Amino acid sequence: MSPVGSTPGGPPPPPSQGSEGHRSFMRRAVALAREGMEKGRGGPFGAVVVSAGRIVGEGCNSVTSTCDPTAHAEVVAIRSACAALGRFDLRGCDVYASCEPCPMCLAALYWARVDRVFYANDRGDAARIGFDDADIYRELALPTPERSLPVLRLADPEARHCFDEWMRKADRVPY
Ligand code: ZN
Repeated sequence: MSPVGSTPGGPPPPPSQGSEGHRSFMRRAVALAREGMEKGRGGPFGAVVVSAGRIVGEGCNSVTSTCDPTAHAEVVAIRSACAALGRFDLRGCDVYASCEPCPMCLAALYWARVDRVFYANDRGDAARIGFDDADIYRELALPTPERSLPVLRLADPEARHCFDEWMRKADRVPY
C-alpha cells in the first residue's frame, strides 16, 4: 500500500495525524478483512471508522454468514460506529476500507456524512477475485431504461400524502 497523501492530487493527511496513523488504521481494516475471511463470515473486506484519531466502529464483510447482501464491511462499520456514538451522522469521521467502496457502500458513506474515505485495493482488484463492483458502477452510469434492473414508477396518491404529512409533522427529525 502506498502511504496516503503520496498520490499527486490525493488528499493531504489531516494535521492531527501523520501517515503512520493512516497506515495503522488501514492495517486494522485489512486485519478485519483477513479475520472475517478466515472465520467464514464473508468476503475479504474490512473497514474501520475513525473519529479524533480513535477507532469508533469497525466491521468485516458478513454477507454469507448473516444472509444479508447489504452486510458489506463499510455498512457494518457505519452501523457499529453509529451505535457506539449514539447518532446517525458521522460528520468528523474518516473511514478506512481494505477495498474501494462499492456503489452501495459509497452511497451509505454519503448518507453517513463521513469526512473522507481511504481505501487499499481498488475496484479492479475486487473484480479480479470475483467481486465485480465495477459492473454496478457501469450500470449506474447508464440511462435508467438501459440498465439490467428494471426500476419502474407506479404512482400512488397515498405515497404523496405520506410525504405531505412528513412535511407537516412537527416533531420530525431531519437528516
Ligand atoms: Zn459495498
